[in-house]
Amino acid sequence: MSTIVVNGTRVRQFLAMRECIDAMERALRALTRGHAVVPLRPVVHVPGETGGALAAMPAYLGDPKSLGVKAISVFPGNEGTAHDSHQGAVLFFDPDHGALVAIMDAGAITAVRTAAVSGVATRLLANADASDLALLGAGVQAHSHLEAMRAVRPVRRVRVWSRTSARAAEFARRYYASDCSVTAVASAQEAVEGADLVCTVTSSREPVLMGDWLAPGAHLNVVGASVAAAREVDTTAVLRSACFVDRRESALREAGDLVIPMREGAITESHIRGELGEILDGTGQGRLTPQEITLFKSVGLAVEDLGAADIVYRRAREDPDVPRIDLR
Ligand code: NDP
Repeated sequence: MSTIVVNGTRVRQFLAMRECIDAMERALRALTRGHAVVPLRPVVHVPGETGGALAAMPAYLGDPKSLGVKAISVFPGNEGTAHDSHQGAVLFFDPDHGALVAIMDAGAITAVRTAAVSGVATRLLANADASDLALLGAGVQAHSHLEAMRAVRPVRRVRVWSRTSARAAEFARRYYASDCSVTAVASAQEAVEGADLVCTVTSSREPVLMGDWLAPGAHLNVVGASVAAAREVDTTAVLRSACFVDRRESALREAGDLVIPMREGAITESHIRGELGEILDGTGQGRLTPQEITLFKSVGLAVEDLGAADIVYRRAREDPDVPRIDLR
């Protein structure tokens, strides 16, 4: 039995954003319905200065039937070096016999599926005419989030802020000749004020977004911090928002954006209105009024990786140019 090896370039070629958004809907609905097995992820924090961590994310997903594990390292200090901040592999198994049928680049899968999940949240929660987008962060996720936001809403204006102003300027330059005008701005506040859609996609451990800046009716995708001790948005942002998550159990353990306000006593668990899967399933409520601010806190789930990996695997299997290896 051979194992297909799919590198990052091919993952991107096989995994179109719109198709991935639909796949994320299926995966999140299956999760809410109990058609998935997803243990909380163990994380090894590497001692020393790097701030590096290694996470193992196994799962079984019932729709489409799939089994696998993502092993991914996150080294935030890698920015600006030859190494990506997210590196690893998705090991994809035959769910009937347990054979390892594919190995795929996890960085590319993560880049697309994370933004696709924010695409699902935005499709469910943002006002239909939301067109003014703020991006806080200018890295891998900022690019894929711009693509996802444009897939689900009529985005017309984009402001990008990044800690290093040259990085924001470089981001804006990449879209200069495209049909999407992106302006680099000097402060996060300038980006956020007046925006209908806000994506926070930084590696910051402290808030980069203050709730006082938010316009009524805004929708936020809060993506960056995935550990309980770090957050990208302040307590006011959470208090002003109706909050949604990918999975309650994971968010209550891993989402500092929610866990820290809970520890402060500012909110309780009931401040989380629902999981995306509950809205998709018709058992949960989304936005209640056009003026309401909605906040989706993403921590990232292994079922999302499996839903994306299934698309990649089906394409790769049909492509004779994709390499095969025999591990035995
Ligand atoms: P990149 O390394 O490509 O980009 C990181 C961005 O964060 C850059 O814009 C960088 O700014 C900014 N940044 C780094 N440190 C700080 C800081 N202390 N304060 C403010 N900004 C900072 O990372 P990715 O785009 O791949 O990932 C972005 C975040 O999303 C990470 O935290 C990552 O762990 C998280 N993530 C979450 C997932 C989920 O499922 N929820 C999945 C994948 C990633 P500059 O370069 O200008 O200095």
